[in-house]
Amino acid sequence: MKTYDIIIVGAGPGGLTAGIYAGRQGTKTLILDKGLAGGIGREVPEMENYPGFDMISGLELVEKIKEQCIKYVELHETEKVEDIIKSTDKFMVKTNKETYYGKTVILATGSSHKHLGIPGEEEYLGKGVSYCATCDGLFFKDKDVIIVGGGNSALQEALFLENIGCKVTIIHRRNQLRGQQYLQKNIKEKNIKIIYNTIVEKIKGKTFVESVILKNIETNNCIELKTSGVFISIGYIPHNKLAKKLNVKLNENGEIITDKHQKTNVKNVYSAGDICGGLRQWIVACGEGAIAATSAYIDIQQSD
Ligand code: NAP
Repeated sequence: MKTYDIIIVGAGPGGLTAGIYAGRQGTKTLILDKGLAGGIGREVPEMENYPGFDMISGLELVEKIKEQCIKYVELHETEKVEDIIKSTDKFMVKTNKETYYGKTVILATGSSHKHLGIPGEEEYLGKGVSYCATCDGLFFKDKDVIIVGGGNSALQEALFLENIGCKVTIIHRRNQLRGQQYLQKNIKEKNIKIIYNTIVEKIKGKTFVESVILKNIETNNCIELKTSGVFISIGYIPHNKLAKKLNVKLNENGEIITDKHQKTNVKNVYSAGDICGGLRQWIVACGEGAIAATSAYIDIQQSD
């Protein structure tokens, strides 16, 4: 029977940092992730607000944190947790490969990209439609692309695409952007075009994307805009399936509710990172991971 003190589900910034703290506190810890370490944090093109670095990409930071983490704990990438069953004194964690037992569980399950749900979006995924400028941007060098959204992610991705030589237009459904002032200032300085009060109704093409149908929501007028790339950056959906399974309390957005010790309403279940909502930042996820691991450690000490 493979038994651990702490099983961490999710190897994003929150999960990995929880691993560093858990391992260094001497707890036997396993981190499981259905994909690669970093989660969607890998996609952040450039961060200018992570302390200690003037500028670093999500991928670079993930690699550094992962390297540090695996000195202390076991990390299994591409191993998906399919179920967690709670008994009186432990959790049975079933993956697509194995079954493990943990005294405590930290849910750092993150989130995925929200979709527009419009015709052409699924059909042209990978053929012009993308949710990740860092991953796919270079394919569109010197080409026209649109970014859908007006938040921090959309503005960051627009700047990234512009920097690598794409001709970028932002399509935003309201008459003002939501993203931070410094990003808005950079967008203005780069003369990136913004089409306000507008939604994308349809993505068209043959083998690849060729155009989009845009609708002005004030006038209801529609136009067809030629574009090779459609980057969709309209927020995230929390991965809360396992939390629901464990009867962990969620807020109205489907995010896990924790106290200041990152404890959930379920004994010995803690949570960290984007799945907890709030200020979705790397530094916050890392902080929450550190707190969650420390809380789990203290609870294990007190129960032994
Ligand atoms: P967000 O802040 O929720 O913004 C989503 C954007 O997409 C909004 O402008 C929203 O429009 C638009 N939108 C949502 N659904 C839409 C739909 N169906 N059709 C068209 N537009 C739609 O998401 P985000 O930018 O991904 O950021 C998520 C969180 O991460 C935020 O808390 C953000 O601050 C944080 N973040 C921070 C940084 C940073 O600090 N550098 C970088 C990236 C992300 P409305 O404005 O009309 O609602």
